[in-house]
Amino acid sequence: MKAVVVHAKDDLRLDDHEVPECSPGSVLVDIEFGGICGSDLHYLSHGASGLSILHHPMVLGHEVAGRIRAVGLGVTSLSVGQGVTIHPATPCGTCQACLAGNGNLCPTTAYYGSAAHDPHTDGAFAAVKEVPAGQIRVIPDGVSTRHAAVAEPLGVAIHAVNRAGGIAGKRVLVNGAGPIGALVVAAARHAGAAHITASDVSGKSLAVAAAMGADQLVNVADGGTLPEIDVAFEASGAPAAIGGVLAAVRRGGVVVQVGNLPAGPINVALASLVFREIDYRGTFRFVDEISTALEYLAEGLDVEPLLTHTFPVDEAAEAFRIAADRSTGSSKVLLAF
Ligand code: ZN
Repeated sequence: MKAVVVHAKDDLRLDDHEVPECSPGSVLVDIEFGGICGSDLHYLSHGASGLSILHHPMVLGHEVAGRIRAVGLGVTSLSVGQGVTIHPATPCGTCQACLAGNGNLCPTTAYYGSAAHDPHTDGAFAAVKEVPAGQIRVIPDGVSTRHAAVAEPLGVAIHAVNRAGGIAGKRVLVNGAGPIGALVVAAARHAGAAHITASDVSGKSLAVAAAMGADQLVNVADGGTLPEIDVAFEASGAPAAIGGVLAAVRRGGVVVQVGNLPAGPINVALASLVFREIDYRGTFRFVDEISTALEYLAEGLDVEPLLTHTFPVDEAAEAFRIAADRSTGSSKVLLAF
């Protein structure tokens, strides 16, 4: 079977792997769609994602959906043919973070397609993936596997919104309208935000954000100014953008940092954090908001405007090239298996 494997920096291959056995307690999933994430792109372009460095070949991918192909011994709640997505994490369940309900902060968790540990954790960009039953999330009626492949990044967006505290009735800014920023727009809309401004330097990305629910668009490259808001999501990860976002938040407001920041020292204007008493918070992956994401999709949250490109897995190299180049107008790029 085919698997999308990063062997090293700038070395992406479609390898032939054996179809896995179905162990007791697990299921086999025929993967139908996989979304390319920023971390997948970074392993290919840099041989690393954040502090996780690639030391040997690894199957990429953690945003997938498909159908159950086989059910292992002892699995009674799942059946062949069901549409499913996969929670990509395996928190230990016993550490302080896990016991506090913050499995996303578990220091030993393994995540699909991550080189955080050695040996690395293979991802799910493969025709067939063996998955422990506990990581399976069944897709609700009326939601396609194509859309359910977006449940994982939508879960990231919903966790970010949860980190802000209640946002119903609030004026919201999402700075950075790439795939995650656009999903934060959709999640904030679904959670009842009163008014959502999206800002970016790309008109094409802003158009996607508008289709995903933004009320107002600000192109900061054109000198557009941000309105005063209650809650901001900084989803660009660009240090130069942070000062402007902090300045746009009202006194006592909240800024959630969604975009990954560079690992080294950065130059950021933080003064207003103190004298305007702003809460500046991080957010990391999600606990189980991938399940909430499936509910949102079933309730009608439409991710279709985000899905700008779909490539057959044989054209994975081209798919990665398009996903990495936002001047193509790409947002979320899907592989079809
Ligand atoms: Zn743990």
